[in-house]
Amino acid sequence: MKAEIITVGTEILLGDIVNTNSQYLAKELAIHGIEVYYQNTVGDNEKRLMQAFEESLKRSDIVITTGGLGPTNDDITKEVACKYFNQELKLHQPSLNKIKNYFKKLNIELSENNKKQAYFPDEAIILENNNGTAPGAILRKDNKIIIILPGPPREMKAMFEESVKLYLQKLTDSVLVSKTLRTFGIGESLLEEKVIDIINAQSNPTIAPYAKESEAILRITAKAKNEKEANNLINPVIDEIKNRVGEFIYGEGNTSLEEEVAKIVVDKNMTIAVAESCTGGLVSSSLINYPGISSVFMEGCVTYSNEAKISRLGVKKETLDKYGAVSKETAKEMAEGIAKNFNTNIGLSTTGIAGPEGGSDEKPVGLVYIGIYINGKTTVKKFVFSGDRQCIRVKATKTIINELRL
Ligand code: ATP
Ligand code: MG
Repeated sequence: MKAEIITVGTEILLGDIVNTNSQYLAKELAIHGIEVYYQNTVGDNEKRLMQAFEESLKRSDIVITTGGLGPTNDDITKEVACKYFNQELKLHQPSLNKIKNYFKKLNIELSENNKKQAYFPDEAIILENNNGTAPGAILRKDNKIIIILPGPPREMKAMFEESVKLYLQKLTDSVLVSKTLRTFGIGESLLEEKVIDIINAQSNPTIAPYAKESEAILRITAKAKNEKEANNLINPVIDEIKNRVGEFIYGEGNTSLEEEVAKIVVDKNMTIAVAESCTGGLVSSSLINYPGISSVFMEGCVTYSNEAKISRLGVKKETLDKYGAVSKETAKEMAEGIAKNFNTNIGLSTTGIAGPEGGSDEKPVGLVYIGIYINGKTTVKKFVFSGDRQCIRVKATKTIINELRL
């Protein structure tokens, strides 16, 4: 079964809003074993929307649309879909009653325009909207299906969850299950190289490597009759991948490096303090994203200037004069200094040149020292990261956080 997604709205075309509806629907359709062949965005324009329906339904069995179900004249999705199937719109009294009630509750007068949202062809399956006024619909003709959903993501998702899922489950008898392995510290291409023979040997499950925010991710996807069978296909492949690159895998599924590390630190009940220069608070902020961190996170300081490094962390003036702020020696004193402040088990520090200005031959842009003090022992590591200012700061942040995983 093939599907296409058409998101309707000039504001998406203009880039005023991000098309999150397509992303959501594409993922959901995949889970239901329905392959998405094309995604399309069309402005609020009757002729082009009609063309889009014609093209999509020539190629595919199902089209899901979002948007253009509002009460105004430029909301035309339902009208065009019905015109395409040659089905007549008629007043659907139960839908009108629901819309009237919705407005009554909000104490707003129903406008003539809103009645348009209660018109459907006799052949349609009407999908209730419990979060707004516009009902959606499933329209069918000659084995072709158009599912029309409202634009606002909250309404669209709820309608999908409440009504569309069930409909799709009945249509298809296979599922797609995906699992992701998240790695840090190995580049996407090296990761691919290490598992390329596994990738090439498999067609079900398929294995797709991709990079995201300095991390390399492997997505393993299997198609099967049910979730259990899909897992039976996926799990041996995951075991084999873990044998090869297990040390780089920090987590599976919907998680993040920060979260996994924060859990470890909390589990071990190791108190932590952070002194940041070039990362400017990113390390603290990342760790604090994890809600349970409060039991161990003591302090995070952005000590950007030399004066702050001296007064807040006790970095020696001689160290700064002799080696500079971006140096192994300063990173060491920063990590030890912040740990000393609250007598924490862990003290972290970052100091580097995030650019774009300020680099030299000896100390280029991207040079970062990270200091890790753990229970009396301090390690300093030197890196030269590539990328723009933000990229260098993110890489430094993830690198130091990753150190706590080991
Ligand atoms: P309304 O009754 O609000 O007019 P509608 O079904 O006509 O609903 P649109 O007018 O197309 O939907 O979109 C309403 C709002 O929903 C948009 O302003 C936007 O905020 C959000 N929206 C619409 N389409 C998308 C999309 N593809 N991705 C994310 N948000 C969207
Ligand atoms: Mg609208």
